[in-house]
Parts: sequence; structure tokens; C-alpha cells
Amino acid sequence: MARVALVTGGTRGIGSATCKALKTAGYNVAANYHGNDQAAKAFSNENKILVFKWDVSDYAACEQGIVNVENELGPIEVLVNNAGISRDAMLHKMTHEQWEQVIRTDLDSLFNMTRPIINGMRERGFGRIINIASINGQRGQIGVANYSSAKAGVIGFTRALALESARKGVTVNAIAPGYVKTELLAGVSDEVMKAIVAQVPVGRLGEANEVARCVAFLAADESGWITGSTLTINGGQFMD
Ligand code: NDP
Repeated sequence: MARVALVTGGTRGIGSATCKALKTAGYNVAANYHGNDQAAKAFSNENKILVFKWDVSDYAACEQGIVNVENELGPIEVLVNNAGISRDAMLHKMTHEQWEQVIRTDLDSLFNMTRPIINGMRERGFGRIINIASINGQRGQIGVANYSSAKAGVIGFTRALALESARKGVTVNAIAPGYVKTELLAGVSDEVMKAIVAQVPVGRLGEANEVARCVAFLAADESGWITGSTLTINGGQFMD
């Protein structure tokens, strides 16, 4: 039977590419999203992938959403914690709301999503948890103290849970992409974008499907000896 994979924020950007890659690899895929019904509907129709709407920053909503997914598809064996937002501002101008929204969506979501799923994975003796971090969680960057904090937290969460899960057949890894062409970068000016690309040794932004390929690799049954790692994919921009 095909393994069941759930991708948060799976209807757009990196998440959408990930759902497609996992489906191609033979998984039975569910995509979560938050507010953009139009994009979710178009994604679902085009790819024949079920979509489920809830807010990953809300613990109770995650518990219920996971029950809904498992009722439709069966136990979740691959969890991709991908949903994320940015709310950029220099710290001296950052509002508490900007701080809190990013921490809740990009970091608290890992607890909210993983806590209701981890016991089942441990009991069944198999699981793959893949958390999308960022280059800006590996190093600092101006204007993103909230995002860098959350994404550094993602890497810490990955390492701790990898140790807790190692004897149970459950691997936990992070992927740290550099700058990838998605709507998350829509707010970045052309001038700043040019400056970013100039810092990428490969000389271009990343493509969502290049990150998706990393997810499919880590999700594979054959990747059972990889755990606690952070897979860096950034065109050579930062080497950790
Ligand atoms: P996009 O903005 O293109 O897509 C974000 C997806 O996440 C959408 O499906 C969105 O749903 C969903 N989402 C946002 N907030 C929530 C929420 N509260 N609950 C549930 N779903 C939510 O983002 P990217 O594809 O660019 O980013 C994906 C991940 O990759 C993020 O974690 C991001 O931080 C990380 N990343 C991205 C990089 C980049 O350069 N793009 C670089 C490094 C890391 P909806 O459509 O309903 O809004």
C-alpha cells in the first residue's frame, strides 16, 4: 500500500512542488493550506491531490485537521512541516504582532503538527518527518530576526526529535533552502533581489522542484540512516 504523506502549506510554492514530487514517487498525498481557497482548489483539481484547510499555528485545529486527513487516507507516515510565512522588519521597527505571527506559524507549528502524529509513528515503527528551515536560520540576515529565530528553532527541534525517535524507525531531518522563486519573495524589491542573486555562486535563485527533490530523497524508505541532518540547498550561498 502507498505510504501516506501530509505536506503543510502544500498548495503553493515549495509545498506544491513537494506534493507533486511525492505523488510521482508513489505516495498517497494530502496538502494542507490556510487561507487561499482559490489556489488550493486549482492545485487540487490540477494534481488530483486532496487539500485540507487549517491554520498550523493553532494546536486544536492541527489535531482536528490530522484526524480528518487520517480518516480519508489512513495513518500519516511522512510529515513535511513546510508551511511558513515571513513578516520582515528591522527589530527596532518590528511589531510584537510581526514577531508572534512568524514564531507561531514557522516554529510553534512544528509542535502543533508533530505532537499529534508522533505517537502513531513510534507505535508503527516507521516515520519520516521533514522540516523546512532556511538559510536564514543557519546564519543571520538583516530584517528577519523573527524568521531567523523560528528557522534556527526548526533546526534545534529537528535534532532533538531525531535523537528521541532514532530507535523507533522515525527519522527527523531539516532542509535549509536558500532563496527560491515563490510568492514568499513577492515583497522583495528588484534591487534587493539582484543583490541576493549576486551572492549566489550558482548565479540564480532556486526552483521549488529542486527543494521538493530533497524532500522526496529524505522521505524514502531507503533513507533510514539519515536523521538529525540539515540538508543545505542554496546554490552555494552559505556552507555550513
Ligand atoms: P509560499 O508563500 O509560496 O507558500 C506558503 C504555503 O504555506 C501556502 O500553501 C500557504 O497557504 C501555507 N501557509 C501559510 N501560513 C499557513 C498557516 N498558518 N497554516 C497552514 N498553511 C499555511 O511559501 P514558500 O513555498 O516560499 O515557502 C515554503 C517554506 O519554505 C516556508 O517554511 C518558508 O519559510 C521556507 N523557505 C522558503 C524560501 C524561499 O525563498 N521561498 C527560502 C527558505 C525557506 P495559503 O495558500 O492558504 O496561504
